[in-house]
Amino acid sequence: MKKVLVLEDESSIRSFIVINLTRAGYEVVEAETGETALELLRANPDTKVALLDIMLPGIDGFEVCRRIRATNTKIGIIMLTARTQEMDKVTGLMTGADDYVTKPFSPAELTARVDALFRRAGGEESPVTGEIDQPPFLLNTHNRTLEKNGERIKLTQVEYSIMRVFMENPGKALSREEILDRVWGRDYFGELKIVDVNIRRLRLKIEDNVQNPTYITTVWGFGYKWGL
Ligand code: CA
Repeated sequence: MKKVLVLEDESSIRSFIVINLTRAGYEVVEAETGETALELLRANPDTKVALLDIMLPGIDGFEVCRRIRATNTKIGIIMLTARTQEMDKVTGLMTGADDYVTKPFSPAELTARVDALFRRAGGEESPVTGEIDQPPFLLNTHNRTLEKNGERIKLTQVEYSIMRVFMENPGKALSREEILDRVWGRDYFGELKIVDVNIRRLRLKIEDNVQNPTYITTVWGFGYKWGL
């Protein structure tokens, strides 16, 4: 079952999301508060994607995101933001969300975002057994894990997919559009900024010195390059 959790305190927006995701074939678990959402996720461990509103009574969406990520790196997380300014907070706090949707959003935009993350989390990719060994990094494409100097680095599904694109293309400058296409899918029509946000977070996890990244380097005005 394609199970999605929706955390939104405004009932009209929540109903709008539930109706549209149900129509798109998802089973939707609804929560009005962050505390309830965390309980429902514990009760529904097969939930693949969570949509989290930010402004809530009680704990806010960022805190819910942090608490989910503390124990679950697999689930796809989309923040529902009221203004673009809130995205800067997401960027700043690096709470572990994979994507964000700015209100008001259309049903098509919403389902496209959820579909894209569901494909990531659900592992629709053909399971290829193998390893990409580029010391100090070792990517296991069967278990979808990354090690640096033999130590496991916890990655979200999106972060893993980005690493895989990089490690399959060492030394090649990849445009942000190409990364977006390869990681989120060609039918995805989100913003390029989400690539930067995820790469910024990925750098925090894999670089020796985030101020001076040497593994994922920026190709100004174009994109990024994986270079060892
Ligand atoms: Ca709200």
